[in-house]
Amino acid sequence: MNTIIEPFRIKSIEPIYFNTKEERHAILEKAFYNPFLIHSNEVLIDLLTDSGTSAMSASQWAGIMMGDESYAGSPSFFRFEKTVQQITGMPLVIPTHQGRASEKILFSIIGGKGKYILSNTLFDTTRANIEYSGAEGVDLLCEEGKYPAIPAPFKGNMDTVALERVIAEKGSANIPLCIITVTNNSGGGQPVSMQNIREVKRICVANNIPLFIDACRFAENSYFIKIREEGYADKSVPEIARELFSYADGCTMSAKKDAFANIGGFLAMHNELLALHCRNLLVITEGFPTYGGLAGRDLEAIAIGLNEVMDEHYLQYRIRSIEYLTNKLIAAGVPVMQPAGGHAVYIDSKEFLSHIPVDQYPGQALVSALYVAGGIRSVEIGSLMFGKYDAKGKLIPAQMELVRLAIPRRVYTQSHIDYVAEVIIEVFKEKAAIKGLRIVEEAPVLRHFTARLQPMTNG
Ligand SMILES: *Cc1c(COP(=O)(O)O)cnc(C)c1O
Repeated sequence: MNTIIEPFRIKSIEPIYFNTKEERHAILEKAFYNPFLIHSNEVLIDLLTDSGTSAMSASQWAGIMMGDESYAGSPSFFRFEKTVQQITGMPLVIPTHQGRASEKILFSIIGGKGKYILSNTLFDTTRANIEYSGAEGVDLLCEEGKYPAIPAPFKGNMDTVALERVIAEKGSANIPLCIITVTNNSGGGQPVSMQNIREVKRICVANNIPLFIDACRFAENSYFIKIREEGYADKSVPEIARELFSYADGCTMSAKKDAFANIGGFLAMHNELLALHCRNLLVITEGFPTYGGLAGRDLEAIAIGLNEVMDEHYLQYRIRSIEYLTNKLIAAGVPVMQPAGGHAVYIDSKEFLSHIPVDQYPGQALVSALYVAGGIRSVEIGSLMFGKYDAKGKLIPAQMELVRLAIPRRVYTQSHIDYVAEVIIEVFKEKAAIKGLRIVEEAPVLRHFTARLQPMTNG
């Protein structure tokens, strides 16, 4: 087969700012070994997140100019609404400024003390909004999702045996919602199979529990179903997406992911009464129902992006580019999560830096090393992000110590990705020289955003 090429030409470019290893060393020190504190113009290849970092198309930019900024009843809203209705089959569409705003509205209404929200894996903002309402979030990831090095086609699936058990334990009256995250972001961008969604739906119906989809990466997940699940090879991505949404009573979405937009989100659903409650809250926190938290131009960009993202040439290139980097790293012996996920490559830093104990944050040490070596910005998903302390102040580590390299959509070319692989492999060869880190200052919640660290001097 021929090389899978980027399915676009470049019309407008942004410069990359180059700097030297010595300069980056000083920048990192000044940023207290925390990539969130580095300025983006001091980064060569920015893989911190795929959220809001997509390149928009010429059509989307044209749509921006077509945006109608009327307070009420803008045609931009009706184009947006129609697009979401067509893709999801859900009639009631509520625009929000981003995914977490949809979550805040939804869980303010259906959450609350004594309630349980069940999921394959809740994304961190979803969990935060559930917990903020007083409810409890329960992750029921399938067994094969728990082992980074062992490949399986649908490692994002929900454990349906555990689902039935938890429903029996907690009582369906205390479970206002089940929500499946596609792809499973916190679980490594791994997809969920149609069969799994169908089975979850069956269990939900039997117990009278509504099912929602956290649809941030619905197109990437649909493409994985097409290429990996029996019976879907000849179906189009919009057909697969439509089937996926047909099992759900509603969905939450961040348009910063699979809509190629820099901001935006929505809620969509079938239930009129729930939509009424959502719109009542929307007016207080986001805006009038025909713009939510967005400008008319954003609604245009999202509507166009939602259709572009289902293009199979794009999705083939997208999934292939993640796989390309993953395979290069595997070939060099670098420990990564397998198989490749939909939007990011995950390095197992506990393996990569096996000489650094978890209480010296091997993930953050690797993030730091990649920045100094090649100006690559990545993020730790391990004990800095999720670690807690016991009563004696000893670290209770996270289950895994991962470093995530999230690939922005349509932004970097193959040579950028080749460069990233070279830098990682170079760092891997000289890993013995990398030292662990210790925290010198931290906030009580979400500490990874602002924590200040220092290298260990004797380890
Ligand atoms: C990004 C994300 C969200 C939250 O969306 P924001 O637009 O960042 O608020 C929710 N769920 C998943 C799976 C995500 O990736």
